[in-house]
Amino acid sequence: MTTLQSPPLGALAFYSDFDDFETWKRALQAQLPDLKIVHASAIENPKEISYALVWKPPARFFDRMENLRLIVNLGAGVDSLVKRDDLPAGIPITRITDPQMARMMAGYVLFSVLRHARDIPFFEQAQRLGKWAYKHPRSPDEITVSVLGLGQLGSKAAYELQRQGFRVLGWSRSPAQIENVECHAGMQALDSVIGQADILVLMLPHTPQTANLLNRERLEKMRPGASFVNVARGSLVDQAALVDLLKSGHIGGATLDVFEREPLPAEDPLWGMPNVLITPHLASVAIPSSSATQIAANIRSVSAGKPPDNLIDPSRGY
Ligand code: NDP
Repeated sequence: MTTLQSPPLGALAFYSDFDDFETWKRALQAQLPDLKIVHASAIENPKEISYALVWKPPARFFDRMENLRLIVNLGAGVDSLVKRDDLPAGIPITRITDPQMARMMAGYVLFSVLRHARDIPFFEQAQRLGKWAYKHPRSPDEITVSVLGLGQLGSKAAYELQRQGFRVLGWSRSPAQIENVECHAGMQALDSVIGQADILVLMLPHTPQTANLLNRERLEKMRPGASFVNVARGSLVDQAALVDLLKSGHIGGATLDVFEREPLPAEDPLWGMPNVLITPHLASVAIPSSSATQIAANIRSVSAGKPPDNLIDPSRGY
């Protein structure tokens, strides 16, 4: 008598300087008890590694893993992975598209937009001066929020923003449809989407096409006094131009989670600007308990010879 058995899963190598190995190991082990999970620093037999779950691994990391079958990027932004020149050819790369991650990002964007929409920075400054400074609130429907990038994270944020009653414009490469969001696509629509915004939210990936997309000329197209929120990548923005426009007041305020150089250098002028809120690149993170299910499903697919979900396209850059 023959019994049908699944092929052995093999081993997964983990690398991240930002995420806790034991937490990820527990979350994955709960889904895949047969999977061996090793920290990259403890790999004894590189040939047994079939899967790599990684965030910014060192150069030549994959070289010794000759039986690698899947690379899982431990996060949504794959820019640091796809720009490497040492990626093994033909190995599928997936990213995490965890609903909890999208919710966390939408929460950060909502907080930032509401903060600007309700003039909270103005009141914070007035409070520091001990001033009762009345400024009449604007109704949300008088405020236009433009969201550049309508992917897994951007579309959720745009949806949550329209639920608050803002007029929401969205911009992406290919046409998108989101309830109550005026969606635009392509370069020809960009300047108009920027120029209509009272609050501009950047949620695009870094690719060769989006690098420095918000250059000085485009930032100058923002409405005088408009606010700027960047949760995408600092490399998408001319940061020196942003500083100049914030100083002149052309850009009224900014909430910045990402920067050209991270950590933001101590001498950077942004630190001292009263109209800028700085957070250290944490608008959203991958959450082990909710991401493990999709990582496990992809490992099972690849192990069974099927294509994984959430594949990224290295030639496109996201
Ligand atoms: P997705 O890959 O799901 O979506 C990307 C979106 O950008 C799509 O709507 C895409 O258009 C659009 N886009 C890409 N290139 C262009 C272009 N040249 N012109 C116009 N639109 C373009 O990304 P996510 O929503 O998951 O994430 C967005 C980014 O957020 C990540 O790449 C990462 O850099 C950043 N991030 C930041 C975090 C933080 O803590 N600050 C945490 C996680 C992510 P189309 O739909 O047509 O493909």
